[in-house]
Amino acid sequence: MTNAGNAPAARRRPGRRASAAAWPRPRRPWLPPGLTYRVQGLLVPNRFYHWLARRLEAFPAAYWLFTAGEKTAKSAIFGCRMCGQCALPVTGYACPQTCPKQLRNGPCGGVGMDGSCEVYPDVRCVWVAAYERAERHGRTADLRLLQRPLDHRRWGRSSWVNYWQGRDGELWTANDGLAAAPEISRPVPSVPAASLAAGEP
Ligand code: SF4
Repeated sequence: MTNAGNAPAARRRPGRRASAAAWPRPRRPWLPPGLTYRVQGLLVPNRFYHWLARRLEAFPAAYWLFTAGEKTAKSAIFGCRMCGQCALPVTGYACPQTCPKQLRNGPCGGVGMDGSCEVYPDVRCVWVAAYERAERHGRTADLRLLQRPLDHRRWGRSSWVNYWQGRDGELWTANDGLAAAPEISRPVPSVPAASLAAGEP
């Protein structure tokens, strides 16, 4: 999904400087994908995590301390920007929010022939990195799932707490929808010949 307010820096009017925070820069995680998939297995919701999440939300100071720790770790590894609705498990652990256009469903049309980002040509498109990382572990099918729009009220919140509280169930579709019959194949209702002769629509 594109954040309409965040146009690429390259297209801004001359004379206006973008703050560094306004334009995300693609980040390739430095942890190997195999390790990130294994760590994900350790974070799967269970009764303890659910209990922990509830306790954290009951005590704001503990919640914000926990969230600060999550932010420190994930921003160092993935360039996490704390959208609060983590897509990493289905993006090869490359954070889509580091895309300058914040696209959640794959790359834009401006990726360079060498896989470079259109906005920051000196770095690799984060979606190219996502594909390369997912491919190494046979997870490219993940990238065909449709990411639903972000709930922007959750920015800055802990995505782990949201995950353990069961709020991430609808972040992406269950399948890529390719098995669904295309609309065009539905039967077209027949029009009575008398109506056609009378010129009725
Ligand atoms: S919580 Fe959002 S910003 Fe942070 S790594 Fe996950 S997708 Fe990226």
